[in-house]
Amino acid sequence: MHTLLFTMENPSATTEVHSNRRDDAMRAIEGIYPPPSLHWVGDGFRVAGYFSAIPSAAKKLSPFLMLDYHPAYEYPKAEGHRRGVGPHPHRGFETVTIAFQGSVAHHDSMGNGGVIGPGDVQWMTAASGILHQEYHDDAFARVGGPFQMIQLWVNLPKAHKMSTPGYQGIVSAEIGRVTLADNAGLVRVIAGEYLGTKGPAKTFTKVNLFDVQLNARGKADFAFATQDNTALLVMKGDLRIGDRTARENDFVLFANVGERIALEALTDAHFVVLSGEPIDEPIMQYGPFVMNTEREIHEAISDFRAGKFGKMS
Ligand code: MN
Repeated sequence: MHTLLFTMENPSATTEVHSNRRDDAMRAIEGIYPPPSLHWVGDGFRVAGYFSAIPSAAKKLSPFLMLDYHPAYEYPKAEGHRRGVGPHPHRGFETVTIAFQGSVAHHDSMGNGGVIGPGDVQWMTAASGILHQEYHDDAFARVGGPFQMIQLWVNLPKAHKMSTPGYQGIVSAEIGRVTLADNAGLVRVIAGEYLGTKGPAKTFTKVNLFDVQLNARGKADFAFATQDNTALLVMKGDLRIGDRTARENDFVLFANVGERIALEALTDAHFVVLSGEPIDEPIMQYGPFVMNTEREIHEAISDFRAGKFGKMS
């Protein structure tokens, strides 16, 4: 099915896939998905959950479990009220929050916490379990304004699902920066590596996470191992990918065919690229718990009820 789709839509690339020049083989596109309808998470996050609309997402996007995109939205000032989500648990994976506009605050039962503002990233490893709250930072809420962010969930391999929780607060200045030639734009490397520049995030499996801005007519090339699941979310502008066009708010899932991705911005564009080595283990999810077996889900629920996820201070 992939091959047929690929042949129909990108015949030139098919030729390269079968040639010996494996490094030059273009990645085929599995699908381009328009934004699903928005829903509220608590009263602070107005998001589109892209993976729910994608067939076999758990397999085709592993190790990524969820991507909630909060497109730019203007919040009124909120005095005396904290917008967000109250205390809730997580176990078995990591939550990665990228702030583009506005500021998100978090604090958890491990005593970690902080505020991430525009350009910053919070990489929270729930692993054996945490309780946390996520909300609009008080200083932002007092004045209100535009708010735009992503929350990505990254699965953990079985060997690390019950490891000690961790927290990486990554400020914008720590993020790797690759300025593209010909005034094409900028690649910010949050995790993984791009053209020799490494991202600061420590990950348990191979993950590349890039925040990319291209100027109109700017070009950028990426290459990821064929078996690594790869996608991008267009947050602004239109992108040419081979003979296809991805428009603002589209999510592009690449097939596991070829390696190279050549992009050209048709307008000023802003997008995130995610790629990761799949974790080939069973996934059993119940809300905020992502484990391998049903028994482990029951354990998570009973541990949570028994207060083993700690306390919010
Ligand atoms: Mn959470």
